[in-house]
Formats: sequence, structure tokens, C-alpha cells
Amino acid sequence: MDDQVTISKFEPKVKRGLVVIITGNGKGKTTSAMGMALRGCGHGLKTTIVQFMKGDLYSGEWDGVKQLAPLVTLYHTGKGFCGIQGNPYPHAEHRRNAQDAIDLVESILRTDNCDTLILDEINNAIHLHLVDLPQVKHLLALRPPHMHMVLTGRDAHPDLIELADTVSEVREIKHAWRKDIEPQPGIDF
Ligand code: ATP
Ligand code: MG
Repeated sequence: MDDQVTISKFEPKVKRGLVVIITGNGKGKTTSAMGMALRGCGHGLKTTIVQFMKGDLYSGEWDGVKQLAPLVTLYHTGKGFCGIQGNPYPHAEHRRNAQDAIDLVESILRTDNCDTLILDEINNAIHLHLVDLPQVKHLLALRPPHMHMVLTGRDAHPDLIELADTVSEVREIKHAWRKDIEPQPGIDF
């Protein structure tokens, strides 16, 4: 521990925005995106997060990102996961919420100067027909060249996988819920 370590910082010759997709059925998609927001803070980068289909169940990142203000801003839209057991809202209502979220993202893309825009659970929103693929392609087309866009959620559409620069699939090997362990704060929500 006596040795001094010289810390250097890599500077890319060309700075460019990337499209990143985190998909798959394992745990870690949303938290991976939150990790990019946290990491961006270390570089002074501004991140805006729009969560689709989230709003009925509290998750720690809602208040957690307030500790990262003013660099990170989060909007949760929607009424929870459409179609899962116990969610009482009809598809049409989920779709209305998701359509409002698309409008919000479009206005962010037109006015906000964020460095990274995270669209959390948008892959599920497409898969469940709450938003349409052309709408998401339109949002991607509005992305300024310097801006990173991160799309999370299961069942990413093959067209978006094709468009993206970096795609990761989180695969479940084990999940505590299979042992009837309840979701735990900080880990699961
Ligand atoms: P995380 O938000 O932890 O990064 P994720 O975004 O990869 O996870 P989602 O599919 O969005 O996963 O699920 C949200 C949360 O619900 C996760 O924290 C996960 O641990 C939990 N979860 C996922 N699948 C199940 C399940 N079948 N039953 C109960 N909880 C689950
Ligand atoms: Mg998620």
C-alpha cells in the first residue's frame, strides 16, 4: 500500500455518442443503466433517465439519483409492468402512459442538452405494444451525434439490436425469487 499509483485518464480521439442496449431475462439491466449514470457523473456528464412502465412500486433509484443532482434527472412514467399478476390497469391505460412518455422523450431530445439519455424498460414497452417500433426508431434518429442512448428491458427488438453499437444480454443463472426470497431493497428495487 506504500507504492504511489499514477492515475491516468483515457481520452478518446473522437468523442461520439453510442447506442447501448441491455436486454435479457437476468437481473441487472436497469441497474447497469444506473451504473452508467453514476459513472458519467465522475466525468461531469449529464444523464436524463425516462422509465417506461414504472410508477406504481417505489424503487430506490427514484430518490437515489437526487444525490446525483443536478447531473442526473429521472422521470418515472406509467403504472407498473403491464400484464403481470396483480397489476390492475388495462392495456389501453398502459399504452396511454407509454405514449405520453414517448412525447416526453421527444421533447427531451429537442430541448435537453444531456450527454446520456436512458430509456429504461423501453424494450418491454415495444414488446408489449405500448409503443411502436417506428416511434422508437424516430427517437433514435433525433439523437444528436454526441449523445449516448441506453435502452433497457427484456425482448429487445432485432431491428434495434441491429442499430445499436453495444448490446449485452443479461442471462439468468439463478434468481433469489425462485427460492421464494422476497425482493430486497437496494438489490431488487
Ligand atoms: P434490476 O432493476 O435489478 O437491474 P432488471 O432491470 O434486469 O433488474 P427487470 O426485469 O426490470 O430486471 O426486473 C425488475 C426487478 O424485479 C429486478 O430487480 C429483479 O430482481 C426483479 N425480478 C425480475 N424477475 C423477477 C421475477 N420473476 N420475480 C420477482 N422479481 C423479479
Ligand atoms: Mg429493469
